[in-house]
Amino acid sequence: MRFYICRERDDPKPFRIAIIGAGPAGLAAAGYLACRGYEVHVYEKMPEGGGMVAFAIPEVRIPVKAVREGMADLERIGVNFHFRTKVVYDSPKELGDEWAEHFVSLERLLGEFDALLIATGAWRPRNLKVPGIDLSGVYDALTLLHHVKMARIGYYPWSRIPDLKGKHVVIIGAGYTAVDVAIEARLLGAEKVTIVYRRSLNQSYAKAEIRKLVGEGMEFIEMASPVRIIGNKKVKGIEFCRTRIVEGSVVMTNECFVIDADVVAYAIGQLPTSPIREVVCANEEILKEAGIFFAGDVLAPRNIGTAMREGRARANEIEEWLLSKAPRKIFPVSATTRLIESVMSGKC
Ligand SMILES: Cc1cc2nc3c(=O)[nH]c(=O)nc-3n(C[C@H](O)[C@H](O)[C@H](O)COP(=O)(O)OP(=O)(O)OC[C@H]3O[C@@H](n4cnc5c(N)ncnc54)[C@H](O)[C@@H]3O)c2cc1C
Repeated sequence: MRFYICRERDDPKPFRIAIIGAGPAGLAAAGYLACRGYEVHVYEKMPEGGGMVAFAIPEVRIPVKAVREGMADLERIGVNFHFRTKVVYDSPKELGDEWAEHFVSLERLLGEFDALLIATGAWRPRNLKVPGIDLSGVYDALTLLHHVKMARIGYYPWSRIPDLKGKHVVIIGAGYTAVDVAIEARLLGAEKVTIVYRRSLNQSYAKAEIRKLVGEGMEFIEMASPVRIIGNKKVKGIEFCRTRIVEGSVVMTNECFVIDADVVAYAIGQLPTSPIREVVCANEEILKEAGIFFAGDVLAPRNIGTAMREGRARANEIEEWLLSKAPRKIFPVSATTRLIESVMSGKC
């Protein structure tokens, strides 16, 4: 993967920029800014860069080697990486935190850098709220995928990955995460894989991938939503009810059915994980004035291409902002921290 576009760096510029998160958005921004001659430091809680591409997307789809090559290029043009380093402000515990060994406060970065890009993605799985969710054999798909990928690239013991051999794996949801769990489940020996989606196949943004999997023998059930997971300590099945779409919204009907299942994985979305909690509540425009920018999944679900494009666009905005505002004089760290506090308390 290629995260920058220049052959060599421009002459050094007198500004330092911190990027939080080494996923596609943060890396593309780092590449752009390093090319333009800025001193760039990337803070990443995981042991290496790549974000979801390195730590969730199955190795058979995007090998981690491709990300590592792009990372080596970035190091060559002078990007400074701080791995296993989580930036904290008021963020709660999130997926992947166990890999962080160092903790740096957002306030410290505000004091040390001229501008900040928050590109921390969406690492909190949205929980499925139905009875039976705590039964053994029920997983949130993102955590399951993350652990399988960590095992495949040598960070995580295989002994902690659930045994899917000969099992019927039922997946709830129809996005990239659902598709990838289906792929991994088959590779891990599942006998049958079923994806169930509450809307129609055409409404899934991963429809092409799902069609391919159906062509290879996977079952896909559309227009059905889970109402309870059945079992005694261990999952045995799931009850779904048929859905209808009314004015764009999903409405449940009384027509219900049960599917037997040995393993259930729900992939119903991810929530943004910014060091400033609930970035959607904070006013992005106001924080921009203080030199704090956002890009990628932390704002809303993206894909690899859009996250990278947004990272570069935001890096360009950072450059314009730095060159036009003499930022340190206008926003000392104490004022910026107070600004964040007032934005948060007013809006959230
Ligand atoms: C399972 C799955 C499959 C996907 N498949 C595809 C696909 O086939 N095609 C496609 O185009 N897109 C796909 N996507 C979407 C794509 O991966 C994302 O849109 C993209 O990775 C977003 O990039 P990002 O940089 O915004 O965030 P991320 O990739 O999530 O990177 C964010 C980085 O920030 C780090 N971080 C978070 N918080 C902190 C903190 N406080 N301090 C330090 N570091 C922190 C994280 O460890 C992570 O490395 C998939 C996503 C998933 C989950």
